[in-house]
Amino acid sequence: MDVTTSIRTRFAPSPTGHLHVGSARTALFCHLLARSTGGTFLLRIEDTDVARHVEGAVEQIIEDLRWLGLDWDEGVGVGGPLGPYRQSERLDLYNEYIHRLLVAGRAYYVFETAEELQAMRETAEADKRTFLYPRPDVLPTGEDARRAAAEGRPVAIRFACPGVDVMIHDEVFGDVTVPAAQQEDFIIRKADGWPTYHLANVVDDALMGVNFILRGQEFLGQTWRHKLLREALGFPEPRYAHLPLIMDMAGRKLSKRDGDVDIFSFRKAGYLPEAMVSFIALLGWSPGGQKEIYSLPELRSMFDIARLGKANAKFDREKLLAFNTDVAASAGEDRLLAAFQDFLSINDTPFPAGDEAVCRHLLRANKGFRTFEDIVFKSGILFEDDQAVQYDPKAVQKVLDKADGEGWRVLGELKPLLADCAWEEAALEKLVADYCQTSGLGMGKVAQPLRVAVTGRTISPALTDTLLLLGKAATLARIDRCLNGRP
Ligand code: GLU
Repeated sequence: MDVTTSIRTRFAPSPTGHLHVGSARTALFCHLLARSTGGTFLLRIEDTDVARHVEGAVEQIIEDLRWLGLDWDEGVGVGGPLGPYRQSERLDLYNEYIHRLLVAGRAYYVFETAEELQAMRETAEADKRTFLYPRPDVLPTGEDARRAAAEGRPVAIRFACPGVDVMIHDEVFGDVTVPAAQQEDFIIRKADGWPTYHLANVVDDALMGVNFILRGQEFLGQTWRHKLLREALGFPEPRYAHLPLIMDMAGRKLSKRDGDVDIFSFRKAGYLPEAMVSFIALLGWSPGGQKEIYSLPELRSMFDIARLGKANAKFDREKLLAFNTDVAASAGEDRLLAAFQDFLSINDTPFPAGDEAVCRHLLRANKGFRTFEDIVFKSGILFEDDQAVQYDPKAVQKVLDKADGEGWRVLGELKPLLADCAWEEAALEKLVADYCQTSGLGMGKVAQPLRVAVTGRTISPALTDTLLLLGKAATLARIDRCLNGRP
């Protein structure tokens, strides 16, 4: 490739649901490759597998990409000169190229049913032979195909491999050779009339001018097919960089079994996109140096494919949690507010999502939180119905019953003082401080009984924040309920 040619790369997901973290990494690296080199990033939807079609999946992918802060220059959602960018709208184009291959004798019709193919495979297995589809000496004609279709047989088309070893140069994994003896004449058009992924992918990459393919390592083993198709169709060969596998902490390929693995689940669980991006960027890529958390703009300027590694990447949830904690701690309040309100908009929580002042107060009162879910855990009860408070017997025992019911006495004495108190920070702080002084009790001995009375447990934001968020009426009502019920 001419060094002056700018990079055109693409993310080409098959729409099967929300974006998996592995796909998100591919998308991120494609975005970074384009942005760091002044290239172009395309989004193409590979939806020719009609059986796997999931309603709404394209919208979900787009939403997830945008949430991560990734944008693209051409493709679904933004348009562009080389569309349509959904494969389901490009069937005629694929057929045109399949036709060319048929005419050139580089592809041929096949008529086996799935059962017949299976039987052929089993026979080969029984004979201890590797099964490779046996190409007939005389290739079926178009007329044969029409007759087979009329008889109700499935008509598919296979590519005729030329019988040469194929060498792929991958910029991460180096040179990979697939010997001719391992190459099977693979299907390029299925019996349902749709092209397979291989054919559609190769045609589109060529027609969309894609000259750099970044994708997961799981595709490396198939790349020989793409190279052969490109040669047969006279398409130029792009550059390749395959990204290492992502493993769980037990060293297995990351999967649903490990818990949530799609971007939307992390969003719903209260993670920040900035933390996700920074974390995902390190799955197979390393910036060098000590710093670990990078913003998207930083990554855009420093990304370099030379720093991609081939060692399996590890999906370390603890590290992600630590990243999120750090990113949240250093984010400005306006940014946090927007992210928190986004979190609230997709979750059912007791918080008044539209009340900006309350949301800001919650964020301040919960400083140090790891994810937004922590805020729900710590402060949710303050916005529930008073009746929803459930008293943790251990907390009651430790904080109220102990020392001859000292906590109960404190509660009884604080109640009238609180009833007379103005509901604002300074007044509440003074009330508690004065009470500590006159009673000779430490802060904990005063704050904890109140906390248990109004939340049922010993964990909540700082006492004043707890009371302010709860409000005067609910505070008094909960103290009453606690005293009367003496749980
Ligand atoms: N549609 C493929 C996928 O689901 C794309 C593979 C590629 O990037 O070539 O990931």
